[in-house]
Amino acid sequence: MHIETIAIHAGNHVDETSKAVIQPIILSTTFERAVDGTYPGGYIYSRSSNPNRTLLENVLAKLEGGSDAAAFSSGNAAGMSVFQSLPPGTHVIAPDDMYHGLRNQLKLLFAGILTFDFIDVNDSQVLMDHLRPETGLIWIETPSNPLLKITDIKQVVKIAHQNGIKVACDNTFATPVCQQPLALGADLVMHSSTKYFGGHSDLMGGALITKVKGDWWLKIRQVQEYGGAIPSPLDCYYLARSIKTLPYRIRGHVHNAQLLAEFLEKHPKVESVMYPGLPSHPQHDIAKAQMTSFGGMLSFCLKGGREEANRVINQLKLFTRATSLGGVESLIEHRATVEGPDTKTPFNLLRVSVGLEHIDDLVEDLAQALA
Ligand SMILES: *Cc1c(COP(=O)(O)O)cnc(C)c1O
Repeated sequence: MHIETIAIHAGNHVDETSKAVIQPIILSTTFERAVDGTYPGGYIYSRSSNPNRTLLENVLAKLEGGSDAAAFSSGNAAGMSVFQSLPPGTHVIAPDDMYHGLRNQLKLLFAGILTFDFIDVNDSQVLMDHLRPETGLIWIETPSNPLLKITDIKQVVKIAHQNGIKVACDNTFATPVCQQPLALGADLVMHSSTKYFGGHSDLMGGALITKVKGDWWLKIRQVQEYGGAIPSPLDCYYLARSIKTLPYRIRGHVHNAQLLAEFLEKHPKVESVMYPGLPSHPQHDIAKAQMTSFGGMLSFCLKGGREEANRVINQLKLFTRATSLGGVESLIEHRATVEGPDTKTPFNLLRVSVGLEHIDDLVEDLAQALA
């Protein structure tokens, strides 16, 4: 089945008693037992599982081509569950430009429990030099935030699997519409569903999708159930609802991002544009090989430095100055000041979450702000 069809049908079912076409929201925290003590509906208690979460997990698994999915209360809770599922002492390799919230999670919450190196995972030699007997996981994120660097998924998977190491991929920027890491060999996919899955900047969520249901997945399910960082039935409902339009929303985001990137690249006040859909992107060929389209995120650097970046961002009318991404409205942010003092992000860089407004209006707004 095609992804448009999966998005609409895999997270929904016609209710058996009322015949409602859209799945009802089941808020009950507890479920009645039969006289023989069994649970005829298959549900016991909502921390363990809930009908709305089951439907959401079903559509998430199908979208990424996985065998199962687990939904969480945020993207960071999903990441946390991966790291908590690893035996203490495991060595984790992560990208040097890993999403700063997860980098801080590792540094602040897992010091003394796991060991980790933040490196350029795309450099095979560097990657191999950092492998240790206790390395259990290589974490990748592609395209990366905010530099839109591309990691060659197949290449990392090859090195990892030759050494008995698992690969998890943060697929938040790409979404399964643009890129399917499990098909490229990754073992696990992670999402902040706060972003494109939610798509309207009004809910938080996270997801993990697994290729196989082995021992590692069982452990992750235990962290989900006993850790309890689960989404509410309402959040699950809203997410499954938003996902129905995900493939069409992504088409719009990609269309606008490509045209905006081309406009910015030609502008005399712009120093550089980072968008994997541009032939000038240093890893455009890898992006073309592993992505079906290039996503809705781009960054650009201004010739005038930090002051010029501030001037432009304050001159814009349609782009809202805010962090986060993946909503229908365009957002722009000065990334270095969000990431904090240890950031490696250039101070003249602005990150754009390209929304679904008409492209001519977006270009016009940027043109007047840059002028
Ligand atoms: C936002 C984000 C996260 C964290 O997700 P939350 O929902 O904010 O917890 C992780 N990775 C990437 C790439 C993100 O953009």
